[in-house]
Amino acid sequence: MTGPELSLVVPVFNEQASIAPFLARVRPVLERSARSHEIVFVNDGSRDGTLDLLIAEQRRDDRVRVVDLSRNFGKEAALSAGLDFASGRAVVPIDVDLQDPPELIADMLQLWRSGFEMVLAQRAERSVDNWSKRAASNLFYRLANRVSDVEVPHNVGDFRLMDRKVVEALALMPERARFMKGLFAWLGFRQTTIRYAREARSAGESKFRIGSLWRLALDGLVSFSTTPLKVWTYLGAVFALTAFAALCVIIVRTLVFGVDLPGYASLAAFVLFFSGLNLLGLGVIGEYLARVFVEVKRRPLYIVRATAGFDDQQTQTIVLNRRL
Ligand code: UDP
Ligand code: MG
Repeated sequence: MTGPELSLVVPVFNEQASIAPFLARVRPVLERSARSHEIVFVNDGSRDGTLDLLIAEQRRDDRVRVVDLSRNFGKEAALSAGLDFASGRAVVPIDVDLQDPPELIADMLQLWRSGFEMVLAQRAERSVDNWSKRAASNLFYRLANRVSDVEVPHNVGDFRLMDRKVVEALALMPERARFMKGLFAWLGFRQTTIRYAREARSAGESKFRIGSLWRLALDGLVSFSTTPLKVWTYLGAVFALTAFAALCVIIVRTLVFGVDLPGYASLAAFVLFFSGLNLLGLGVIGEYLARVFVEVKRRPLYIVRATAGFDDQQTQTIVLNRRL
């Protein structure tokens, strides 16, 4: 089976207000720039009318395809599902809220046809995000690139064009923790970047809460770096040596000046400080252990309830492969 030239992969979660504007803006771009295309929507457990809208669109246009997940698995898993079902020779994941300008797809296709296997879209400025989100993201990239083995490019999101080869390589990555930006960076391939300004959301509101961003950041750090695990060895060594030196001083002082008993406050402070440090170290190990636990269970990344617009053969193989 040969797929279309271009697949769009669109994860959607409670986005009934965004779908019509999205299609209205994306379709002309695709008609103009791609020889043939499909639009793969992944309904990530929406609780509003999103699914009905998608099914209606699918009935009208068979290039619209729908993958309905059994519940909300989160954007990263929904994206993985979409990538598994997409059959285009080039694949572009894109948010439904039009924050990533679809017009860019024409340029991406151009670069892809000239031989690049991955075309990243880099946000030139993040003025639509508030300053705290911006500051947090800066800090994250700085930290991530300092401690991890791969370079995660600054300010690129999931909006990018991937060659079929990249999509297939991505499907080989067995981990459950899908920190997509890190996985992409790890893959390599011939990459290039175009810059754009990120727009404000067209409708609805951002589905990310500060808590989930924090978890995403933790995932990013922990799945691509073992530095937080190892740092305790050195920290521990430094403190042990310091303690040993202090012990020597105390012994000598006791021998020379005899016993006295002040210093209760500093003792209490030390005990508190070091038990805090212990807990912190334990917590970091816990973070890794929790991830090992999740990986070891080998659960599928997502469960598909139903699909529309794909042929049965295709659906069967994908669902079976993922269960392995
Ligand atoms: N999304 C999803 N599952 C989720 C959260 C979000 O599929 O659990 C989708 C959402 O519908 C949208 C895209 O991911 O198409 C980006 O979400 P959002 O705009 O809320 O994120 P932000 O742009 O604020 O990072
Ligand atoms: Mg958005």
